[in-house]
Amino acid sequence: MSSSTAIPGVEHRDPQYFGYYAMLQHQQNMLQDNVRTSTYRSAILLNAPKSFQSKTVMDVGAGSGILSYFAVQAGADKVYAVEASGMAKKMQKLVKAAGENGKNQFLKDKIEVINAKIEDPDLPIPKVDTIVSEPIGVLLFHERMLESYIYARDHYLKPGGALYPSHGGIYLAPFTDATLWSETMAKARFWDQPSFYGVDLSALYKDARDEMFGMPVVGHFDPRSLITTPTFLDRYDVNFSTITTKEMQDITIPFKWTANYTGLMHGVAGWFDLTFAPPPYDQPNPEAAGTTIEMSTGPAADRTHWQQVRFLFKEPLAVNATQVIEGWMRCIVNDMRSYTIYVEVTLDSTQLSDPAKMDKEQFLIANHPLRRRGVWELHEQTYNYSFNPGYMPEHQPEYSCLYQTEEQIDAATKNSSADTKSFDAMYSYDEFVN
Ligand code: SAH
Repeated sequence: MSSSTAIPGVEHRDPQYFGYYAMLQHQQNMLQDNVRTSTYRSAILLNAPKSFQSKTVMDVGAGSGILSYFAVQAGADKVYAVEASGMAKKMQKLVKAAGENGKNQFLKDKIEVINAKIEDPDLPIPKVDTIVSEPIGVLLFHERMLESYIYARDHYLKPGGALYPSHGGIYLAPFTDATLWSETMAKARFWDQPSFYGVDLSALYKDARDEMFGMPVVGHFDPRSLITTPTFLDRYDVNFSTITTKEMQDITIPFKWTANYTGLMHGVAGWFDLTFAPPPYDQPNPEAAGTTIEMSTGPAADRTHWQQVRFLFKEPLAVNATQVIEGWMRCIVNDMRSYTIYVEVTLDSTQLSDPAKMDKEQFLIANHPLRRRGVWELHEQTYNYSFNPGYMPEHQPEYSCLYQTEEQIDAATKNSSADTKSFDAMYSYDEFVN
């Protein structure tokens, strides 16, 4: 392989990456994500007979060991808990104390902590019946730990074995947010000044816009700022039982939305869901004894530490209700344990280019009035916490500068009585005030 086609590695980031996870406060942050932790617990306990009772289990990236403890609670015979960071020694402390002074009697002699990277050769681990792991980052694949999960599957899972989680799904949607856009522009505008202590900074104004708008915005947002709400049918499926590490290097997600409102599209929002399904994964098997659990990190779901992510366009795109918005997102791995993200969106399908033929150098140069393109580095995340659902007044689409057609308004009036909260039939208000 020539150096230009070589896949960027992650190893040079290991000291920072594992240094982060070696700290209890960061493990705690994940443990305290109640949606995350309780979903894993339900998935493991509800599939106890099928995948855990008397089974050999591996926990990839065990961290504090929480998934290993759940596996033992579900009846596992033996759990191999592989953790590369210094957290392994802390987990070992907890495991070693099992049985002392009546603490954690159930864990005694059940768990083997292995302080290594799963990719290290010759680990003393047999093939296992079940793998559990939480290898998920922002937009599912930030951190590139899914590659380690796939590696574990390929090297340590028995044929027909179980993977929890078994699938991920990515959702993308067009959004409006004039405030976020203006705030981002305001940061860039700093450079648009002719006399900062007597110095003209404006030569850097364009670079400042590129930089500020090239940062993905992580945070929760109001689901009613979506111009189209994607459904399960729009989900981009990532099947953890079949996807290869090679496929994980370069992922293209096509999309086609029908605008639900007239308004300004300021960019593309993204989130994911996780599915915990028992095997077999290669054929539909409604008879499979077990329970499938789903967890969403979408804007209308209960909050998680992953939040959602938004990719702002430098130039908003005006869309009309019922118009078709089409495009793609191409995600290519980088050497920052993350991805470079290319997006093309168009209102004129003749302008839609082939993502496979994308020219990275020319990508942002070719312009068209009904098309927007953008590039973002997924690891250069910035945060936005301006949305607080607890204080939201009764809301109508026009409050976010999203306009319905006459037909939509008439249909909504027919369908709702005077006292109905009719802002958007797709969400229940109670769902996100609580
Ligand atoms: N399973 C724990 C921790 C999840 S965070 C929980 O659910 O709370 C992911 C963990 O995987 C981190 O502790 C990180 O150090 C570890 N990890 C990441 N890549 C790894 C690899 N290649 N080999 C071993 N451990 C890894």
